[in-house]
Amino acid sequence: MFMDLFKSKKSTTVPPEVDLYNTETRSLESFKPLSQKSVTIYTCGPTVYDYAHIGNLRAYVFSDILKRTLMIHDYEVKHTINLTDFGHLTDDSDAGEDKMMKGLKREGLPVTLAAMRQLSDTYIEAFYDDMDSLRIMSPTTWSRASDYVKEQINLIETLEAKGFTYETSDGVYFDIQKFPRYGRLGNIDLEQLKSGARVEVNNEKRHPADFAVWKKGLLGWDSRWGKGFPGWHVECSAMAMATLGNEIDIHTGGIDHIAVHHNAEIAQSECVTEKTFSRYWMHCAFLTIDSAKIAKSQGNSITLRHLVDRGFSGDDYRYYLLTAHYRSTVNFTWEALAAAKQALYRLKRFVYEDYEQKASKPDEGYVTKFKQCLANDLDTPGTIALLWEVTKDEKLDDKTKCATIQYFDSILDVGLRESVSEGKKTLGILSNDQIPEEIKELIARREAARIARNWPEADLAREALNLKGYSVEDTPYGPKVSKV
Ligand code: AMP
Ligand code: ZN
Repeated sequence: MFMDLFKSKKSTTVPPEVDLYNTETRSLESFKPLSQKSVTIYTCGPTVYDYAHIGNLRAYVFSDILKRTLMIHDYEVKHTINLTDFGHLTDDSDAGEDKMMKGLKREGLPVTLAAMRQLSDTYIEAFYDDMDSLRIMSPTTWSRASDYVKEQINLIETLEAKGFTYETSDGVYFDIQKFPRYGRLGNIDLEQLKSGARVEVNNEKRHPADFAVWKKGLLGWDSRWGKGFPGWHVECSAMAMATLGNEIDIHTGGIDHIAVHHNAEIAQSECVTEKTFSRYWMHCAFLTIDSAKIAKSQGNSITLRHLVDRGFSGDDYRYYLLTAHYRSTVNFTWEALAAAKQALYRLKRFVYEDYEQKASKPDEGYVTKFKQCLANDLDTPGTIALLWEVTKDEKLDDKTKCATIQYFDSILDVGLRESVSEGKKTLGILSNDQIPEEIKELIARREAARIARNWPEADLAREALNLKGYSVEDTPYGPKVSKV
């Protein structure tokens, strides 16, 4: 059903162009892909040494909306998300602890490549579960860094052969001064960086912004520079090129990747191919907690599992994220998440109870407005406002309302397209055949008492229902029974 919606007949109105904010030009641009019909997207994936926190997950809900927006505008999308299973230090540049080593220590595992693989297997599975809970579409390729070591070594060798690198006692570094456009993303001032640099930890580096493309060490793979790992930035250049080609349309990530990681990716890739690596760079703003960065060390690293433990679903969290624009910082609060959950619950009731999913066609006017919102740099708050407008529009009949909301849900994907019985189940509302006879009798007794305006008797029947673990609520469509 999902894909069918994307292949829906073209509307008679010309679809709007898709405008996207490009970090590189710092402006909204009308999207023009390299090829007419198909678009390539590369998304920087998680470092799989631990559960992803809810901030990380925002980055993938964002890329999912981007992808679906392009699909609904009739593009085919080829998408890669990588899985970093080695080599990412706690600092994006060459400082800090290696995250995978941190994971090995935490779990009491030996420092071997096999143990690293085992550790990442666990967290890759956990990450896939998060993706499913958030209804994030699978990319065309999940590329795992340790499966692409050969490609990474080839890339470093090419850079070396072209004279862009130099070797030191601890690794091989990219010489940013050989790439005059280094730092163009985010307009990094390299001179300032140089004068403001701390006393270099590594005094063999020619410039403080030079970054490691190979790290020598006791653990890792064999190469002409000895045993070690490719530097973290290398994996994304190598895997983007291996899975999507030398030139890609869109590269995404969180804003923390702009200054170092993505500038490094550009430098490596463009020095190898002499082509523009990615035409559009898109970044989502941070999710913060108490206006602070999310980090284990801050004790505020909330995961999707924590949300589920508190009674929230992946749909609730996805809906919550979509109420904000991807370029706005979101300060997470439990209260705001609870409000999102309540709003989504109301929408589900509209669909599964009031409208009962009677098949019909979505309203063309609303479909056009919906697409326009998305084409305006993925304005998801606008689409949510539109969704509520549909529920309140007296000019639309129930069937059309339901079909329109479900059309919106092909992009928003917050659980509004289940079958009626499944949908009711998520609401905890029981259909007639799921209600035991004795409960039906109590409901009938209460109804009869209400009709006779015998309120004490009606209250008694309600209490008896509650004692048996059921609740009843009066709606314009009759009593609704749920299990409590
Ligand atoms: P990492 O596993 O650290 O490489 O991060 C995975 C993705 O999450 C990257 O795209 C980061 O930019 C993004 N990210 C990290 N923290 C946050 C946050 N608090 N809010 C939004 N995105 C984030
Ligand atoms: Zn990356």
